[in-house]
Amino acid sequence: MPSVYHHGEIAVQKAVGVREEAAGVEPYIRSAMPAQHSQFFGTQNLLFIGARDASGQPWASALAGHPGFITALDSKLLALTGYRRLPGDPALLTKGSQVGGLGIEFATRRRNRVNGRVTAVRAPASADGADGDVNGSPPLLMSVDLSFGNCPKYIQVRDVKLDPSQLPPPPKQPFSPTTLLAAAAAAKGARPVSADSGGRVLRGSWAELGAAQAAIIAAADTFFIATGYNGRTKTGSDGGGAQDEDGQDVFEAGVGCDVSHRGGPPGFVRMERSAAAPDRPLLRWADFVGNNMFQTLGNLATDPRCGLLFVDWASGATLQLAGTAVVDLADRSLPGAQRTVTFQVESFVYAERGLPLAVRDDGTAYAAAVTQYSPYLPTGAPPQLPAARVWTPRDGPAVAASAASAAAAGTVDGCGGSGVLEVECVGVSWAAEGIKAFQFRLPAAPTPTSAHAYTSGQYAIFEFPTSALSSTASSPGDSALSWASSSSAATAVVNTGAAVTRTWTVTSHPAATAASGVFTLAIKRAGAVSSAMHDTLAPGAKLRLRGFDGDFTAAALLAAPLEVAVLVAGGIGITPLWAVVQALAAAAAGASTAVPKRVLLLYSVRHLPEAAFLGQLRELAAAAEAGAELNLQVLLTTTAPEPATAAPAVRRGLEAAAALAGCRGGVAEARGCRLSAELLAAALGPAGVAALANGGGAAMVCGPAGFMAATEAALVEGLGLPASRLYSESFNY
Ligand SMILES: Cc1cc2nc3c(=O)[nH]c(=O)nc-3n(C[C@H](O)[C@H](O)[C@H](O)COP(=O)(O)OP(=O)(O)OC[C@H]3O[C@@H](n4cnc5c(N)ncnc54)[C@H](O)[C@@H]3O)c2cc1C
Repeated sequence: MPSVYHHGEIAVQKAVGVREEAAGVEPYIRSAMPAQHSQFFGTQNLLFIGARDASGQPWASALAGHPGFITALDSKLLALTGYRRLPGDPALLTKGSQVGGLGIEFATRRRNRVNGRVTAVRAPASADGADGDVNGSPPLLMSVDLSFGNCPKYIQVRDVKLDPSQLPPPPKQPFSPTTLLAAAAAAKGARPVSADSGGRVLRGSWAELGAAQAAIIAAADTFFIATGYNGRTKTGSDGGGAQDEDGQDVFEAGVGCDVSHRGGPPGFVRMERSAAAPDRPLLRWADFVGNNMFQTLGNLATDPRCGLLFVDWASGATLQLAGTAVVDLADRSLPGAQRTVTFQVESFVYAERGLPLAVRDDGTAYAAAVTQYSPYLPTGAPPQLPAARVWTPRDGPAVAASAASAAAAGTVDGCGGSGVLEVECVGVSWAAEGIKAFQFRLPAAPTPTSAHAYTSGQYAIFEFPTSALSSTASSPGDSALSWASSSSAATAVVNTGAAVTRTWTVTSHPAATAASGVFTLAIKRAGAVSSAMHDTLAPGAKLRLRGFDGDFTAAALLAAPLEVAVLVAGGIGITPLWAVVQALAAAAAGASTAVPKRVLLLYSVRHLPEAAFLGQLRELAAAAEAGAELNLQVLLTTTAPEPATAAPAVRRGLEAAAALAGCRGGVAEARGCRLSAELLAAALGPAGVAALANGGGAAMVCGPAGFMAATEAALVEGLGLPASRLYSESFNY
C-alpha cells in the first residue's frame, strides 16, 4: 500500500504534484487544467459534483446542461452557466464552497476531474439552503486547484442524451464576461421549464427509504461518491516540501471536496442489515483494483462522511444518499474485491425526474441500456447473504440484486462470466530487448462473440490466478499463469474473485487473426505478471481472455481525409501505434481515400535495441519512398547514451528531422535528442505545421506519463493542434 494512502487525502498528492512540477517532472495531478481538459469540459452535458451541505456533510450530485454550459475561462477558472441542478439537492454551491467535479464521456469512457472552490456566484442563492431552483440556477465561477485524468476502467458505455426542452438555454458562445452577467440576470427571474420538470421529490432519514429507492441501488452498475478532504499539504518555500529539524515532513492545512465514479456488475452494491440496528440499511461494495492513488479511500481515512449518487438510467430518477463509510482493507469476500467499503445511510433525497434523460420514440431512455459493460468487471457470484442479513425497505419486500445474479451467471454481455475464452499460447519470440512477442490461438468453439473480435489499436484483457503475482514457477511449462481447462481450481478462483486482470495491446492485424485464429501481443517485462509471462509462458499454456476493448484505434485517423497524421510512441507505447500503422497501410493498399496523405511516426526509445517493430517500420517507410500507397515517415529518437541536452546532438537531430520534411517516406534518426515542439516542427515542415494547426491534422500519442504530457503540450500548446484532434492512450493504472 503506498504511503499516500496513510496520509490519506488528495491534498498530499497535490503537494507531490507541486514538487514534481517544480522539479520539471510532469505530475499526475496538476494545479491547472491542460488545454485538453479545458476543451473536454466544454463538451459535457453533465458534471458530477461533490459539495458539502450547511453541516459540512458531502453530497454527490450532478449538474445538467447543454454542451457548453461549462466554459474554461482559463486554465484555472471554470464558468458554469445555464445548468440545471438535481431537485432538492442539499449540496451548497455558494461563494467559498469547496467542489469536486467529474466529467465523464460515457460513450468513450473518457473522464477528467477538477477540484477547487466557488469563487463567485452571480445571483443570490435562495434562503432555504437549496441554492437555485431546478432550471434557474445562478451562474458561478469555480477556481481550479487540482486537475487530473482518470483511468476508464470500470465505466459502462451508455448513450446519455438529455432532453433539450428540460434544460435552461445554453450560454451564448463565444463566452465572455457579458455572457455571465446576462445569464445571471436570466437566472434570477427564471421559472422551471415546466412546472413538474423535477417530478416528485422525497427527503428523509434512513428509516424512510422505500422500495423505489432500494430498486435503484439493487440495479446499479454505476454510482458516484463524494468525499471531503481535510488534510495537510506538504509545502515549502521552494515548492519542494519543507522538513523540520528531525527530517520529518511539514504539512499545512488543506481542505476540499472530491467526487469519484464507481462501476461494477449490476447489483454490485449490496443492501445489508446492520447487525447493531437491524432496520438500518448498510450498503456494501467491493473496491476493485484501481489506479493506486487511493484518493477516495484516503479522504475517507481523514473524514468518514460521504455522499453517494445513484441514477436510474431508464427514468432519470436520482437518489442522493448521505452517511458515513468504513473501509475494510482485509475483506476480499466479494468478487474482485481488493477491500470492501461499507456505507451507513443517514439521510437521502430522491427525485423522480432528477436527470432529464432524452427518450426514444418508443419511450425508452437512450441511457437505459448499457451499450457495453466494462470488460474489467469481476466475474463470479457474490456470496449469498443469510436471509436475516438482507435489508428490507419499509414499504416492500427485500429487493434481490437479480441483475447481480445475472452478471454472475454470465448472462450480462461483456461482464466476463461465460464470455471468458481460454486461449492457447502458440508461439513466443523476442521482439526487442526486454520485449517478448506472444502468439495466442482463439478457440474455434464456443463461437467467439463480438467481444472477442478486435480492431487495430485495441487491447486484450486477460485474467490470471492471483498465484501469478507471486510466481514460484521454476521452469518453463511449470507456469503459475496457466489455467487448467475448466478445472475446479480455476472455477474456485473465479468465484472467490481472486483473479487479477492485465491488459496488452494486440499488435497483429485483425485480418491476419481472422484468417489464422491467432493474435499477437508484444509484452515488456515490467512487474509480477509480465515477468512471469517472460519467464514461464510457453506454447501449450492456456490463458483466460476476457475480450478486447479500447477506443485508441485507427478509426480516429480514417474518419475524414487528413493532410497529416502524427503518431508519437515512447518505448513500449509503440504497440497500438504499430497496429494503427498496419491498419493505415492496409486501408491505403485497398485504395481507401480516407487515409492521411502523410503519416509521420516519431518513435522514442532509450537506445535502438529496445525498439520493437523497427524492421517492419523501416520496410514500410522504404516502400513509401519507392511509391507505396501509404506515405509513412519514421523519425527515431534515442535518448541514450549521449546526454539528451547536448547542443550538437539536438542540432544534428533537427537537421535529420528537417530532411524528412521535404520527401516522401524514409527513416531519420535523431540520436541523443529528446522530442520537442522544435523537433516536431522540423520533421513536419511548414506545410505540415500549418495543416496541424488548421484542422488538417490529427495526432495519436502513447508512452510513459511524462513523455505523453510533454508531447501533448508540444503538439497542442507548441504547434496549435486542436485538443479535439489529439488522441492519447496511457498504459498506467
Ligand atoms: C490500454 C493498455 C495497453 C497496454 N498495452 C501494453 C502492451 O502492448 N505491451 C506492454 O508491455 N504493456 C502494455 N500495457 C501495460 C501493461 O498492462 C502493464 O505493464 C502490465 O500489466 C504490468 O503488469 P505486471 O503484473 O507485469 O506489473 P505490476 O507492476 O505487477 O502491475 C502493475 C500495477 O498496475 C496494476 N495493473 C496493471 N495492469 C492492470 C490491469 N489490466 N487492470 C488492473 N490493474 C492493473 C496492478 O494492480 C499493479 O499494481 C498496456 C496497458 C494499458 C492500460
